[in-house]
Amino acid sequence: MISNTSADTPVASKLEALLNLQRIDSQLDEIRRVRGDLPEEVRDLEDEIAGYEVRVSKFDEEISGLNDQIKQRKQNAKDADGLIRKYEDQQQNVRNNREYEAIAKEIELQKLEIQISEKKIKEAQYQIEQKNTEISGTKQRLEERRKDLDNKQSELQTIVGESEADEKKLMDERGEATQPIEERLLTAYTRIRGNVRNGLAVVPVKRDACGGCFNTVPPQRQADIMSHKKIIVCEHCGRILADVAARGE
Ligand SMILES: [Zn+2]
Repeated sequence: MISNTSADTPVASKLEALLNLQRIDSQLDEIRRVRGDLPEEVRDLEDEIAGYEVRVSKFDEEISGLNDQIKQRKQNAKDADGLIRKYEDQQQNVRNNREYEAIAKEIELQKLEIQISEKKIKEAQYQIEQKNTEISGTKQRLEERRKDLDNKQSELQTIVGESEADEKKLMDERGEATQPIEERLLTAYTRIRGNVRNGLAVVPVKRDACGGCFNTVPPQRQADIMSHKKIIVCEHCGRILADVAARGE
């Protein structure tokens, strides 16, 4: 029997296996292309939301710190007020002017303490207001982003759901398809696929041109490709040239 199939030499069967793998990978590429940037967009939104949540909880912590300060300042003012009353009682029973003046100075100090506390309380209250404004702004953005995330997630689920079974089947096929391919060749295939935009590592020559980069493949090279004696790559793009398509194909 005259064999004219492409599996007529060891190289031909290697190319056959590579073409089979390429066919599967191209279908997987298409599934992922349809999914597009959605998985990444979902991850970005999740990151953004986590960032806002951290910001809100940081503001909450700061507000609780400021409330502690206010509580402390109020206590200070109350203590100072208590001291002032005590000093005022003592002033009733002084023996001389010097003692009276000394107590009056203490009272002044405590009044100052109260003024400082009141000022600090106002400052803290103002800061709390500012932070509450920031919190409500952040929470609003958070709410919007959560809605976006919900939409994107359900969109992604629909698309993934539609293609999940196909993808699984193709991944199983891919596992089998890589079996007959030697490690070295598989590595080269993966590397070429990673380097080219359309994911095609194995292409035919069509109308005298590389099926990947469309640069001309000289006639002698085409003859070498057809002889299936060794694996030939495109001298322009490095893709594996598996075959020469018949005219009109
Ligand atoms: Zn090329």
